Amino acid sequence: MGRFDTATESLGDSRNGLRGAQIQVNLPPSFHGVHVAPLQMAHDKIAWIAPMARCNRVRVRRHTCDCKATIYELCASGGLMLVRRTVRAPEGAAVRESAWLVTAKAAHLRRLLLLGHAR
Ligand SMILES: [Zn+2]
Repeated sequence: MGRFDTATESLGDSRNGLRGAQIQVNLPPSFHGVHVAPLQMAHDKIAWIAPMARCNRVRVRRHTCDCKATIYELCASGGLMLVRRTVRAPEGAAVRESAWLVTAKAAHLRRLLLLGHAR
């Protein structure tokens, strides 16, 4: 059994995907993306709002690992950025977004989120 066998089995698992709040995917370490750190005791609460379809062309610049039920994406459009949160559950995906921010502030927000200082 090499790494390739493991990856193939993992793809099989991901098709069955959603079980409860967690997605059961066993990826080899090299397949994983960024994971968010556990939430810190003292943290900022991000004001998540429903997506408003403000822009036609939104580019995803960074995203957290697909193995988790909740994915965070850093999205850019028209010189502004936001963080998009997608919570995948058996009943469907729930998408919320942060406010649109200038690049530096959005990058800072994403950094806080990844480190568990904001959620
Ligand atoms: Zn992962």
